[in-house]
Amino acid sequence: MIQQRVAAWQSLDWHEELAAAVRDPHELAALLDLSLSDLGISDSANAQFPLRVPRPYIARMARGDPRDPLLRQVLPAHAELIAAPGYGEDPLEERAANPIPGLIHKYFGRVLLILSPACAIHCRYCFRRHFDYAANTPGRARWQAALDYIRRDASISEVIYSGGDPLAAGDPLLAWLTEQLAAIPHLMRLRVHTRLPVVIPARINAECLAWLTGTRLQTSLVLHVNHANELDSTVATAVGLLRGSGVTVLNQSVLLAGVNDCADRLTQLSERLFAAGILPYYLHLLDRVQGAAHFAVEPARALSLHRVMRARLPGYLVPRLVEEVPALPYKRPVN
Ligand code: SF4
Repeated sequence: MIQQRVAAWQSLDWHEELAAAVRDPHELAALLDLSLSDLGISDSANAQFPLRVPRPYIARMARGDPRDPLLRQVLPAHAELIAAPGYGEDPLEERAANPIPGLIHKYFGRVLLILSPACAIHCRYCFRRHFDYAANTPGRARWQAALDYIRRDASISEVIYSGGDPLAAGDPLLAWLTEQLAAIPHLMRLRVHTRLPVVIPARINAECLAWLTGTRLQTSLVLHVNHANELDSTVATAVGLLRGSGVTVLNQSVLLAGVNDCADRLTQLSERLFAAGILPYYLHLLDRVQGAAHFAVEPARALSLHRVMRARLPGYLVPRLVEEVPALPYKRPVN
């Protein structure tokens, strides 16, 4: 049954969808029945972190609405150029936890591997928008240093594929690395942090499912969805393939002003996630990355929104409200 569903899905080529992502503001405006002045794109912000948005994601935006919550997440805005106190290029101080190129070791028992510098979509609030990917994307030969690091530390039980978007890396590399990791006896789990199955659902194809499920490691996939409108039947199909293959699927969102800072929207997001087979995991306060301050929601307001969610939803649909504090070895609950 799963094989039949994967075969039907194969007619869509994720590489083509990735290459066809919209980078031209004029084209984006035309696709949304808007004028360029409606969008209000800042050329300088676009030069610093270029517009990139895949067409399946654009298809879920409302036509004629410059305030659409999905559009807002990808539009280079003038506000990004305004310096804000307390906001910097490395808000989580990851440089201090980067002992080997491509590997970040910040939390006990877990390491993160930067599999790809690329993303299918450029989210304006991304905490890694200034990350030094050039120094952190080793070729296959140089992954040996990261593998040796993991082999030497028996306290590490979980590896997290990150990026950029790790699924922007090709399946041959992902399959090879997963095989290498599975041969390390103290590793138990593999987690993949990705937005690709949301913005290009065809990314979940037979090759991807093969390495994700053909390993002794317990696998989970943490998606990144901020608004219920990001979920449609194509995303649900991709999630169904993952779950049907035994992969646990979770979601983390970022609380973003003008996108989801509303109790109704957050409640609907949790309900829509669960309907698509995804469990809400984290709701993050914005990381203080330079260029994203206009998305910030005050902690007190975040807490009051979260209280409404708790009152409206069963406990398993209420994500943990957390913030990253650079010096702490865990995400700090906001309460
Ligand atoms: S997909 Fe993730 S890593 Fe890539 S720009 Fe968006 S938030 Fe950042």
